[in-house]
Amino acid sequence: MIKRNTVQKMKIMEYLMNTKSHPTAEAVYAVVSKDIPTISLSTVYRNLNTMAEDGEILKFEVGNEAHFDADISFHHHVYCKICKGVFDLHDREIADYIKNNAKIPNFKIESTNLIFVGKCCDCIPQEEVVQNTQAAPDAAPEIYGGLN
Ligand SMILES: [Zn+2]
Ligand SMILES: [Zn+2]
Repeated sequence: MIKRNTVQKMKIMEYLMNTKSHPTAEAVYAVVSKDIPTISLSTVYRNLNTMAEDGEILKFEVGNEAHFDADISFHHHVYCKICKGVFDLHDREIADYIKNNAKIPNFKIESTNLIFVGKCCDCIPQEEVVQNTQAAPDAAPEIYGGLN
């Protein structure tokens, strides 16, 4: 028999694995509570924090809110300050540069938590998009994925 706590944690993990939206605890609660109506927001918080402490998921703060991510591979994030979207940035060059060049005296780096803040392609005003396109006729490959 599976314990109730385990079922809650499994549902939370299942949702995180199936989304790339880097949800807040409230957003996780909104989805998981549809399957488990008895679950409370504080239970969701507690599970998320424990999972983050155990290294099963990532937790990072941006826009004054904690976001959670089931993708624990080495990657960074871009944050759109307009729509508040958090997107993955899988850029090996940036990752390798940081690993090889970040030398902090008397400190051993174990992980980085880099967040680029700006505007996503949906939120950039049309004029800026045109300017960017003119500056770089060969459109840059999309380096970050959209929501979902
Ligand atoms: Zn945006
Ligand atoms: Zn991510």
